[in-house]
Amino acid sequence: MGKAIGIDLGTTYSVAAIVENRRVHIIQNAEGDRLTPSVYAENADGRIMVGAIARNQASVNPNRTVSSVKRLMGSNARIPVNGRSLSPQEISAHILRKIKVDARRQLGEDISQAVITVPAYFSDAQRRATQEAGKMAGFEIMRIISEPTAAALAYGMNRSDIQHILVWDLGGGTFDVSILEVGDGLFHVRAVNGNTRLGGDDWDARLISHLKQQILHIHDLDIESNACAFQQVKEACERVKRELSVQNESHIFLPLTSGPHHDAIEIEMTISRDVFENLTQDLLNMLIPPTRQALEDAALTPADMDRVILVGGATRMPAVRYLVETLFQQSPDTHLNPDEVVAMGAAIQAGVLNGSVRDVILIDVTPLSLGIETQGGLFTRLISRNTTIPVSAERIFTNAEDNQTVMDFNVLQGEREMAGDNISLGSFELTDIPMLPRGKAHVEVMFEIDVNGILQVSAQELHTGESAGIKIDAVHLLSGDQIDQAVAEAAVHAETDIQRRREIETSIQTNRLIQAAETLLFGTVHRLSKASRREIHMAISAAKTALVSGQFEAMIQTAQGLTIVLNRL
Ligand code: AMP
Repeated sequence: MGKAIGIDLGTTYSVAAIVENRRVHIIQNAEGDRLTPSVYAENADGRIMVGAIARNQASVNPNRTVSSVKRLMGSNARIPVNGRSLSPQEISAHILRKIKVDARRQLGEDISQAVITVPAYFSDAQRRATQEAGKMAGFEIMRIISEPTAAALAYGMNRSDIQHILVWDLGGGTFDVSILEVGDGLFHVRAVNGNTRLGGDDWDARLISHLKQQILHIHDLDIESNACAFQQVKEACERVKRELSVQNESHIFLPLTSGPHHDAIEIEMTISRDVFENLTQDLLNMLIPPTRQALEDAALTPADMDRVILVGGATRMPAVRYLVETLFQQSPDTHLNPDEVVAMGAAIQAGVLNGSVRDVILIDVTPLSLGIETQGGLFTRLISRNTTIPVSAERIFTNAEDNQTVMDFNVLQGEREMAGDNISLGSFELTDIPMLPRGKAHVEVMFEIDVNGILQVSAQELHTGESAGIKIDAVHLLSGDQIDQAVAEAAVHAETDIQRRREIETSIQTNRLIQAAETLLFGTVHRLSKASRREIHMAISAAKTALVSGQFEAMIQTAQGLTIVLNRL
C-alpha cells in the first residue's frame, strides 16, 4: 500500500500532511517550512521558481510572477509569462509538483496518491480544474473535498449522531462561512456564504494607515512616498497584528531612512490590543451578515450549532474568538493550528481512502505555551499552546544592558504573563557575547519540538555565531489535570497578570526613553540651546521620579512628556 497525502491548495499558502502511525504530520517542504507560498515565477531565461523563492523575488520581477492563481481556477483565463500563456491549472500543477517532490524528499518514497481540498463554494468546473492540476503534477487524485469538511474531519467530527457544525475561515484575503451537517461519517454542506474581499490583510491595512498618520504627525514624513520605508512599515504592522493575538501590547521600533539626504529617523511606538480592536471594529462586524445569511439559508439558528470551528490564520485574533462566543454562546474549537487544520483533514481522508486509517487518529499539540523569561521577569511566548507538533519558532532578542557578555535563558512552560508563575523546564547560558551597547547585540533564539515532543532550545549571537542550547524531554510530562489547572489559573489571574505585564513593559520603555534622552543630552550638548537642555533635564527627572515611585499612570504621563520634548528638538 503506497502512501497518500492530503493537500490544502490555498490562495496564498499550500500545506501538505500525512497520517503515519495513527498520527497526522505536516510535511515540511525543502526549505524546512510547513507552509509553501502558492507563488510561481520564471526568470528571464525561463527558469522556474515555486514557493518562497518565487514569492521573495516578486517585487523585483512582477511581470513573471504569478500569485493567487486559485482565484482563476475553472476560468478560461490565460496567464502570460515570458511570452507564453499558461492556464491556471498549469500554474497550480507547478505548485503541486513542488509539494510532491518535497514530500518524496521528506518521506523517503514517491507519493502518488492525494486528496486535495477546495472551498465549499467551488463549482464543478473549479473542482475539475483542481483535479486536472493534480493529474498534471503526477498525482492520482483520490478525491476533491471541501475545506470545511476537511477541517471537521481533523477535529474528529465523523461521529454517528447528527451534528451541525459552523466553520469560519478567515484567511489573508477572504472570509468563508460554511454550515455542515455531520452524521454517520457523512458530511453534508448545508449552506455557504462569505465575503471574497475581507481578510487579515484588511486588519493590517488599518494598522498601516494608523501608523502613517502618526509618522506624518510626529516626523512630518509621508511614508507612502518612500517605497522601501513603506514596505518596512507594512511588514511591521503584520507582525504587530500577530503579536497582539497573544500579547496586550506590541512595540514597533523601526530605524528608517528618508528624504533626499537619507536622514535617519527612528519610529518607536507601542500599540495596545484595545487600540487595534478599536481601529478594526467595523471589519469584525463584517463577519456577522454572511454568517446570518448562511444560517438563514440552512434554516438553522445559532443555538442549533453544536460546534464552531475556526480555520485561517486571521481567526487567531482574540476579537474573532470573542465574537463567536457572543454570537453562539459557546467557545470556538481552536485547539488545532488554523493554518494547518484543512491539510490535516485532507490527510485523514486520504488515509481512510487508501485503508491506512481504520481507527482514531491522534493529533499531538503542545499542551501549554512555551517561551523564555525576558527583561523584568516577563514570560515571552515563542510557541503558543495547542500548536500541532512538530513545530519550530524563532525570535531575535537583544542585550538589555550595555556590554552584557552573558545572557541567561530560562525556558518556561505555562500561560501566565510573569515568568515566575510558570514552570521552568531548564536554563542555559550564552557566553562570549561581544561588548556592545544595549540593544545592539542580536541573539536568535530557536525553539524546535520534534515529532516525539522533544524540545530543543538554542540561542545564537548573530555577529559571532557563538551558540548554546538545551534539550528538554519533559514537554509532555504534565498530566491532563496539571494542564487544566495551569490554564484555569491563567484565566483567574488574567486581569492582574496583564496589568502587571503592562506596568513592567511601561517601566522598561520609560527607562529606555530616559537613557535615550540622556545620550542625546550629553552627546549633543553643544548643539542644544540652554532652554532645550533645561526642558530635557526636567522631563528626565520627572520620568525618573515616576519610575522610582513605580506609579503606572505617572510613568505613562512622564514618558509621553519626554517623547514630546524629544520630538520637538
Ligand atoms: P491564511 O490565508 O489562512 O494563511 O491566513 C493568513 C492571514 O492570517 C494573514 O492575514 C495573516 O497575517 C493572518 N495571521 C496569521 N497568524 C496570525 C496571528 N497569530 N494573529 C492574527 N493574524 C494572523
